Amino acid sequence: TKWVYTFGDGAAEGRAGDRNLLGGKGANLAEMCSLGLPVPPGFTITTEACNWYYANGQAYPASLQADVAKALEHIGALTGRNFGDPEKLLLVSVRSGARASMPGMMDTVLNLGLNDVTVEALAADSGDARFAYDSYRRFIQMYSDVVMGLDHEVFEEILEEEKARLGHDLDTDLTAAEWQHVISLYKARIEEELGKPFPQEPGEQLWGAIGAVFSSWMNHRAITYRRLHDIPESWGTAVNVQAMVFGNMGDSSATGVAFTRNPSTGENLLYGEFLVNAQGEDVVAGIRTPQNITEQARIAAGSDKPSLQKLMPEAFATFMEISERLEKHYRDMQDLEFTIERGKLWMLQTRSGKRTAKAALKIAVDMVADGLISTDEAVTRIDPTSLDQLLHPTIDPKAERNVIAMGLPASPGAATGELVFSSNEAEEARAIGKKVILVRIETSPEDIHGMHASEGILTARGGMTSHAAVVARGMGKPCVSGAGTLRIDYKAGTLSTLGTTLRKGDIVTIDGSTGQVLKGAVAMLQPELSGDFAAIMEWADNIRRMKVRTNAETPADARMARTFGAEGIGLCRTEHMFFEGTRVVAMREMILSDTEKGRRAALAKLLPMQRSDFLELFEIMAGLPVTIRLLDPPLHEFLPKTDEEIEEVAGVMEVSVDKLRQRTEELHEFNPMLGHRGCRLAITYPEIAEMQARAIFEAAVEAGKKTGSPVVPEIMVPLVGLKREFDFVKARIDAVAKAVADETGVAVEYLTGTMIELPRAALRADHIAETAEFFSFGTNDLTQTTFGISRDDAASFLEIYRQKGIIEQDPFVSIDLEGTGELMRIGAEKGRATRPEIKLGICGEHGGDPASIRFCEEVGLDYVSCSPFRVPIARLAAAQAAV
Ligand code: ADP
Ligand code: MG
Ligand code: MG
Repeated sequence: TKWVYTFGDGAAEGRAGDRNLLGGKGANLAEMCSLGLPVPPGFTITTEACNWYYANGQAYPASLQADVAKALEHIGALTGRNFGDPEKLLLVSVRSGARASMPGMMDTVLNLGLNDVTVEALAADSGDARFAYDSYRRFIQMYSDVVMGLDHEVFEEILEEEKARLGHDLDTDLTAAEWQHVISLYKARIEEELGKPFPQEPGEQLWGAIGAVFSSWMNHRAITYRRLHDIPESWGTAVNVQAMVFGNMGDSSATGVAFTRNPSTGENLLYGEFLVNAQGEDVVAGIRTPQNITEQARIAAGSDKPSLQKLMPEAFATFMEISERLEKHYRDMQDLEFTIERGKLWMLQTRSGKRTAKAALKIAVDMVADGLISTDEAVTRIDPTSLDQLLHPTIDPKAERNVIAMGLPASPGAATGELVFSSNEAEEARAIGKKVILVRIETSPEDIHGMHASEGILTARGGMTSHAAVVARGMGKPCVSGAGTLRIDYKAGTLSTLGTTLRKGDIVTIDGSTGQVLKGAVAMLQPELSGDFAAIMEWADNIRRMKVRTNAETPADARMARTFGAEGIGLCRTEHMFFEGTRVVAMREMILSDTEKGRRAALAKLLPMQRSDFLELFEIMAGLPVTIRLLDPPLHEFLPKTDEEIEEVAGVMEVSVDKLRQRTEELHEFNPMLGHRGCRLAITYPEIAEMQARAIFEAAVEAGKKTGSPVVPEIMVPLVGLKREFDFVKARIDAVAKAVADETGVAVEYLTGTMIELPRAALRADHIAETAEFFSFGTNDLTQTTFGISRDDAASFLEIYRQKGIIEQDPFVSIDLEGTGELMRIGAEKGRATRPEIKLGICGEHGGDPASIRFCEEVGLDYVSCSPFRVPIARLAAAQAAV
């Protein structure tokens, strides 16, 4: 097996397509080399070696040692240097790189190969002792943290104390001698804490770092990130070892990061930041506030710090050329890392840049206009779930803004919540249903869970490429970063700025589109769905085969869904219509009556309400299909609970409170989910189904007259397991249809079908399809009944199932293809075998989940139905499934 791939000087053994083997970083370094770009030479140890390492009790393949030695010689030959040789010093970085980019999840060690002897060589070689000691102390810090497991705060503490003692503000103020002293303090502290000295032997350092990269694949942060992003453990990480170039060699050196287009808005202008005389992560870590790369961006930001364009025009010009070339080559917006060593530009990384949904749409549409990609490709470039970001509110421009601070507009959208100052507090508050804004001086990978639990993130330090900004954009959460006037006191739990002091629990609003931080809650506006969004949606609509409907019962939801492009209603849950106001009293009266007469009296009150509900839905849907599910009440949810409620219903029914309480107890069920619900109710009390059918037909007649476009109601019988259940209810519906036709002189066209939500129904679908004209897969219940897991009780153990590797995904979020999915497939095939033109749809939560939608396309469903806010996601996902 080939474990090691080299790159450098215009040639490489790997290429961009080798991402699985070399990781994203390694594959792209190889590709950039092959393109002839200036990349420091190096080599990549494959992800297969990582997997071998874990499969063999954390040991290395036998030949690896020799392979690495040879690859180091290769770097030596290209650079004219030798690893570990003080005469011709070669220093390297050791960088992790998995298949998918995992920002900040894995740790990089720079300047490896330095020790007490070689640092002198570096000083002599570069003619800059300050630089050499700065590099050495950085190496000691990183290595001790990443490889030896010593908390980096130990070093920060020492450095802060020294800076205070010496009266320096910035790290760059320290002289060579001062750094030398800091180094001696570092080393003493390491011995004290770890009981062993800092390793001096370069070979030992290298293998320590390689082992640390492999081990970091299993660190807590990486595992959390993988879980949140569905990245399989089996991918492993690669290790990149690369000759060092130095951005900290004085004022003609710099380090920076850039996006070839603005990652927040998508605007076709290079967006980047850099720091003079700095190394590695300094820009991202928010240690100093970085400078803009282009003059244009500097002016737009109103910054008085010179741009790279101004400071180093030659390196800048080369960089602009390369970034354009890389974007054309990859045909996508790139995220670049570079270092300038004494005026010479080096490329250190390229990858597809993370971007907001808004930017993703604009970039895709612009690239189609430029002929760089096709419309089909544009549609596949957008992550459907990210559209969610665009469907969320922004601050009403007319609202009064009480701005207390300004930061960078790091991730768009606005959010309001209570202030919290730590990720744990955020999680705790979230657990009890509170909405919070997480405020940190800066965030680190340890804050991922807190960021997830928050509505938005606010930091005092860090730029547009800081950890907080990058992660928030990925999560689609509003973020304001680098709000420099904020004074945050973690201990006191306060945030103060410009004379205002806020405490933990106070309400703030952040506007991630402008960078404003506002006191209190602010009026929000619903989003605009035109422009780039509309263009992508139109392309998606041209591609997709499946229709997209919505689950809606209220007029507001139905209207909203139509503006999002819903093509009908796939599920109208009539029981939800009975929770409102006085209706619930009539509903209770109906449920609690022990005679048909009593029930009919209550139903008579409900009929006009139902009819007007349906009429309104039919009018909104004007001619589009509307599927109405007959009552499927979780009975216990409707039963009166408090004494007041019981008294109210007793009064209306003119029975005693005691009698009613007794009746309530009779109706108690041990397991309501499997109890007297669905069509079972229509069979015991047919008058309920009859009332509903009447309301539907009468409303359809009226809507047809009013709008001129007759609706074709699709009446759905829930929880059918036996064909006879369905037939029994269908006979009642047909009888009412005939009666209404006779009374009104209008025969409404309608379909009668069933939910497939019990395994028995899926298995007997051929039978049921003899009379049922459509099926809708009710995958919420179908998942419950397939697994025998109650969805409402699953939270307490499903997460543990995931952690213990028993399940990979929550089957209530994404269809379990092997079980629930298999039943769907059987149901669809059997249904079509009997009735080839049978209409098939899905109406569970899964109807808005892209992975499940892909499966629906595979099974050949006619439509998916989902909640209104998921409609655009479903339209796009259905298109991607059809490409
Ligand atoms: P991450 O994946 O967290 O971005 P990287 O491996 O890209 O980690 O490295 C962290 C930082 O160190 C980046 O700024 C990168 O540009 C810099 N870096 C990595 N290798 C070298 C090198 N050989 N010379 C100079 N800087 C480097
Ligand atoms: Mg990087
Ligand atoms: Mg159901």
